[in-house]
Amino acid sequence: MSKKCQLCTIEKATLKRPKTGQAICKSCFFEVFELEIHNTIVSNSLFKPGQRVAIGASGGKDSTVLAYVMKLLNDRYNYGLELVLLSVDEGISGYRDDSLETVKRNQIQYDLPLKIVSYKELYEWSMDDIVKEVGLKNNCTFCGVFRRQALDRGATMLDVDHIVTGHNADDIAETVLMNILRGDVARLQRCTEIVTSGESGLSRSKPFKYTYEKEIVMYAYFKELDYFSTECIYSPNAYRGHARVFLKDLEFIRPSTILDIIHSGETFQLKSSIKLPPQSKA
Ligand code: SF4
Ligand code: ZN
Repeated sequence: MSKKCQLCTIEKATLKRPKTGQAICKSCFFEVFELEIHNTIVSNSLFKPGQRVAIGASGGKDSTVLAYVMKLLNDRYNYGLELVLLSVDEGISGYRDDSLETVKRNQIQYDLPLKIVSYKELYEWSMDDIVKEVGLKNNCTFCGVFRRQALDRGATMLDVDHIVTGHNADDIAETVLMNILRGDVARLQRCTEIVTSGESGLSRSKPFKYTYEKEIVMYAYFKELDYFSTECIYSPNAYRGHARVFLKDLEFIRPSTILDIIHSGETFQLKSSIKLPPQSKA
């Protein structure tokens, strides 16, 4: 006899939930996945009714699922938000141009307005131009700074109150690990915050802070969402790659590792009485 779902105990269990290891049915998976994100939003008071919220949309799995779930929860629980998609075109041929086509399809599928801001328009430099100039060494540093500003500028043009991004629990746990390995105490304290504010003072949040990457992929797959899954052609971020492999190895042995690392990051608080040695530049 096939196993019953451990949650509803009626349907046949068709999947093993990555976060908890429970054998459950597809509809219970959708329910717990969406409910946990709703609980994260409510318990952290991420939004107020009437706010205009931009969803940072890249066409990748995280932001596509975020756009889908934000729209669904906004309707289901009457958050009263006005949602818009905001994309940044870094100017990376063969990568971002294709992923933006996915966002344009998502705009139609989810019936949400879309604004695209490009590096070329804002800074007169595309990432293709930058890589030609600086090579593949510091390109992600430029790109990261530009993207934060571009999102802020786009959000100002759209007159939104808040930006949500698709950073998931794995991304945050990786960042905690990297900050520990680099001894970057200041960033370690900030990187687990669910709400931060940009230079313009606009708040940003991560509704997927406790959502596992594997579950996002599973959700996108079962819901047959339209997303783009190619890596950036300029992605040389080897350090993060090692942190990711290490995290996946730990997750394999103990799935709660991801949440445990986030929790560790949250609880590492620097006592004001402790003096740090100067940070090494090496
Ligand atoms: Fe930009 Fe680097 Fe990300 Fe590519 S991998 S989009 S260059 S930050
Ligand atoms: Zn069930």
